[in-house]
Amino acid sequence: MTELERVPPGVDPSVPSSARVYDYLLGGKDNLTIDRAVAERLLSVAPDSRLTARANRNFLARAVRLMARRGVRQFIDLGTGIPTSPNVHELAREIVPSASVVYVDYDPVVRLHAEVLLAHDKNVASIQADVRRPRAVLDDPEVTRLIDFSQPIGVLMIGLLHYITEAEDPAGIIAAFREPMAAGSHLAISHGMAESAPEALAQLKAATANSPAQPTFRSHDRVLALFDGFELLEPGLVPVQDWRNSEDPLLLPGHETPQLRIEGAVGVRP
Ligand code: SAM
Repeated sequence: MTELERVPPGVDPSVPSSARVYDYLLGGKDNLTIDRAVAERLLSVAPDSRLTARANRNFLARAVRLMARRGVRQFIDLGTGIPTSPNVHELAREIVPSASVVYVDYDPVVRLHAEVLLAHDKNVASIQADVRRPRAVLDDPEVTRLIDFSQPIGVLMIGLLHYITEAEDPAGIIAAFREPMAAGSHLAISHGMAESAPEALAQLKAATANSPAQPTFRSHDRVLALFDGFELLEPGLVPVQDWRNSEDPLLLPGHETPQLRIEGAVGVRP
């Protein structure tokens, strides 16, 4: 079967997708020629980008485990990506075996894989929805079935917000999710940084021009401001590979500072 025959309905194989480019960087197989071309252009100037992608994923794992240890039993993972193990429900259930998780992504390829993977678990759901319409996400029947907003929840925006432009109002989107979150709820964000190596940013921008995979990387101060209404847990907003990393060291050989910089933090709703 050719690659084009495998493309699900609603997917234009000439347009790169951030989910599939990231899948390729993580070593996955759910990507198309156009996605591999974007990733290879990035890797040609920033060869450590595979490690950066892995470090971002490891940040997600540490953030979920920490939230579960702090009593969070229900999670909304916004911008899930193509399922890659361990996933949020597997991580949370290491600590809270009954944890519920709703996965949210607008990419039809993500939906396809998540449906197959999660079909048999009644406390895990996957919905295809756009976080730029937060009300539709919050009112989705799977969200209202699995998430009790009177109790603390964990909201994950890992590697997501740099696909939201300024005109699309990332702070407003976060505020819409923050508003129903009970005290003790947690928000984890990781975000591509404007302080990344200029050549890496330029290649990524050029390779993803006019596509939804084009990122808007933001400065450290701008990302920090997105935690408005949350108290940051130690160590604050830092490179993802440095965040509470003593238990899970990931070295980035050859580069003290990776060329593609991603920073992350976890905040708590007081
Ligand atoms: N969160 C995963 C992780 O960090 O391992 C995947 C990150 S991947 C780089 C970004 C994901 O965000 C993609 O799967 C993409 O489809 C999704 N995404 C981007 N914009 C979105 C939107 N407006 N609504 C829902 N999902 C979105």
